[in-house]
This record gives sequence, structure tokens and C-alpha cells, in this order.
Amino acid sequence: MNKKPIVAGNWKMNKTPSQGKEFIHDIEKLVPDIQNTKVIFFPAYPGLFDIKINPPFYLGAQNCHWEDSGAFTGEVSIEMLRECYVEYIIIGHSERRQLFNENNNNINKKIKAILSENLKPILCIGETIEHRNSGLTEDFLQNQLVEGLEGVESIDDCIIAYEPIWAIGTGETADKDQIYNAHNFINSVLKKLYPESNNCHILYGGSVNTENTKDLIQISGVDGFLIGGASLNIDSFASIINYVEKN
Ligand code: PEP
Repeated sequence: MNKKPIVAGNWKMNKTPSQGKEFIHDIEKLVPDIQNTKVIFFPAYPGLFDIKINPPFYLGAQNCHWEDSGAFTGEVSIEMLRECYVEYIIIGHSERRQLFNENNNNINKKIKAILSENLKPILCIGETIEHRNSGLTEDFLQNQLVEGLEGVESIDDCIIAYEPIWAIGTGETADKDQIYNAHNFINSVLKKLYPESNNCHILYGGSVNTENTKDLIQISGVDGFLIGGASLNIDSFASIINYVEKN
């Protein structure tokens, strides 16, 4: 792998700010010599405040609004996140798409706003089991990419997370061929849209754990992981970071 792999922990609506702070400090102590891997923590918004963090550890947010400020009750702006030293923002996670009605149109607005503020979006895409069983996986992924990235000039600061919805939080990881094929396909779509770009990481997400990391990180085209459940546990997250670092 010629890109520095990324291990991103999406805590979703878990961990209070003090629990999160302690967790980050513990991870920093447990994996002190990380050279080849970027580790990004995604606490809920209150947990982003007052965290001191240094490379190879970074802070990310789970969402944002595309406007700078205004009457948007319950929303958070990119500038607010930047002041908390956030560098990465997850956009279009399937839970946001399914539970909060996010669509490719508002996802696209968020991505453009994040890039214009010089932060890095992690665009999540992934098919349902119905799409997969109907042979529609590639059409669906292509549509999410084309609509999500519409009007985006460069993807050098973008990260794509391939997260098949049926594999998220289910314990059912996509198999090696499914992951290889999906990453390869995403790469080919990106190459057509952005022939000049080689920099865009493509992460896999969906029931990554300490047992499967070793195999999954070997798959060509996998540049790291977006991890939910296993990022909440100190031992499993530390051992995933160690596996990725050594492979
Ligand atoms: C996720 O929420 O992005 C995710 C991949 O969750 P899990 O690792 O629990 O499947």
C-alpha cells in the first residue's frame, strides 16, 4: 500500500466527553510508536471540545452543516468544528441517510463546504442487501459517487468509505472478493471523474474487528478502515491499529 493507511473510529452516539478523553489518552499510551498509520477519532460533538491531539492521531466529526451560521437549530458549522481542531468530517453515513433522510444533494453541499474550508470529508457510500441481491451494487455506488461529488473539482483531500449497509453493525463482514470488487469499481469511477488524482483513500467499513483486520488490510485497494463497534473498545481498537501499522 503506498498511501499511509487510515484507521478511523466512529463512536456514533457513544462515550461522554470525559470517557472519550480518557479513551484517546489510553490509546496514545497503548500505541505510542505509530509511524505508518493515521488514527482518527470521531466522538459525538460535545466530545470534540478541549481535546489535545497530535499526529498520528487526529480528530474528526460525524457530521456538519454546509452553511456558515444561521437559524438551523441543532446543527453545527464547519467553523465551529475547526475551532475544536477537527480535520476530518464523516458525511453521508448510512445511518444519517436512513434515519435522518440525508440525500446525495445535501451530502454534496456538505462536501463542497468542507473542502472550501480546507478540511477533509469522508464520504460514505454503500449498497443495501436488496441492491446487492438484484445486481445493482455498482449502479448504486456510481450514483452515490457522481451525485455526492458533483461540482467537486479535486478529490485530493477527499476520502471515500465503502460501507455496505448490510455489513454495518451486523457482524457480517463483506467477503474479500466483494470488498476487492467494490474498491476496484470505486477506483475506476474516480479515475474517470478525476483522471489526475491518485491520492484519494478508499476505506472499508462494516463489522471490522480484531479477527478480520489482518485479512482485510491485505486486500488490494483497501487503504484502511472506518470502524464502528470495535472502535469503542480500547483493546480491540489498539490491536486493529497495530495490525494495520505492521501490514
Ligand atoms: C460504521 O458505523 O461506520 C461501521 C462500520 O460500524 P461497524 O464497524 O460496527 O460495523
